Amino acid sequence: AKIGIDAGGTLIKIAYCQNGSINYRSFQSKSMEEAALWITQHFENPTICITGGKSEVLAEKLNTQPKIILEFDATAQGITYLASRQQQSIGNNFLFVNVGTGTSMHYVQNGRQERVGGSGIGGGTLLGLAFLMTGIQDYEQIVQNAAEGNRENVDLKVKDIFEGAIPPISGDLTASNFGKTEAIVSERPADEDILAAMIGFVGEVLVTISSQMAGQYDADTIVYVGSSFRSNPLLQEIIEMYAGMIGKKPVFLDRGEYSGAVGALLAL
Ligand code: ATP
Ligand code: MG
Repeated sequence: AKIGIDAGGTLIKIAYCQNGSINYRSFQSKSMEEAALWITQHFENPTICITGGKSEVLAEKLNTQPKIILEFDATAQGITYLASRQQQSIGNNFLFVNVGTGTSMHYVQNGRQERVGGSGIGGGTLLGLAFLMTGIQDYEQIVQNAAEGNRENVDLKVKDIFEGAIPPISGDLTASNFGKTEAIVSERPADEDILAAMIGFVGEVLVTISSQMAGQYDADTIVYVGSSFRSNPLLQEIIEMYAGMIGKKPVFLDRGEYSGAVGALLAL
C-alpha cells in the first residue's frame, strides 16, 4: 500500500490508497506511538512518504525507511489535487492559508508555491485561549460550545459605538474584539459566548491578513486548509463573510486538513 503522512505539531494526518480510493485517518501527535503502531499493524510492506515538522520523529518509529518531503510543496500539491477532484476552480494563481497549530500563508503560481507570510495565531491559539478563558481542554467540546454562543455579549460592534446614528461603515462590523468591556465587567459572559468571540477573533485576524496578502499578490482566490476548520463551521463562516466583503473568493476543501498528507501520497 501507498501511504502519505503529514506529521504536524498537533495532529498526524494519514492518507492511504485502498481499492483505488483514498482513505483518511488522524492521530494526536502526542500519541505518536499509537500512530506508528497502527501503520505497522495495518499495512504489509507499505511505501511511505512523510511531510510535516514531526517527519523525522515519526520516521524513526517505523520499520520501513520512508521518503521525506517538504511540507509546503506537499500541501500545495495536495490542494491542487483535492480542488480538481472536487471541481472547485481555484485557478493558476491563488493564495493558500494553512491554519494548523500556527498559520502559514503561501502564494501558488503555475504549480510553484512561495511562502509569503504567517501568523502565530492559529489552531493552537484556539486551544490555548479556550483553556485559559474557560478551563475547557477538549477540542470538540470547545467548538461545540462556541457554536451555541453569542458574540454580541463580548464583542463591540460599530453600531454599538454609533448608538443608532448612521455609521460610515457597516454597523455589523466588529469595532473591537472582546471590546464590550462595560457589559463584560458588569456581568461575566457565558463560556459559550467567550468561545464564540475567541473563534471570531482568530478568524477575523486571519482573514484580514490573508486578504491583504492576496491583494498584494493579485490572487483572487484564497484556499483555507488545516484541521482548525474541523467541526468548526463558525470559523469558516467568519472567514467567508469577511473575505466576501473584501472581494476575495474563499475556498474550503472537503478533507482540506489532509492536503499535506495527500501531497505526500502523490509524491510516491
Ligand atoms: P502545524 O502544521 O502548525 O505543525 P498541525 O499540522 O498539527 O500543526 P493541524 O492538524 O492542521 O495542525 O491543525 C491543528 C489544530 O486543529 C489544533 O490546534 C486544533 O485547533 C484543531 N483540531 C482539530 N481537531 C482536533 C483534535 N481532535 N485535537 C486537537 N486539535 C484539533
Ligand atoms: Mg500542518
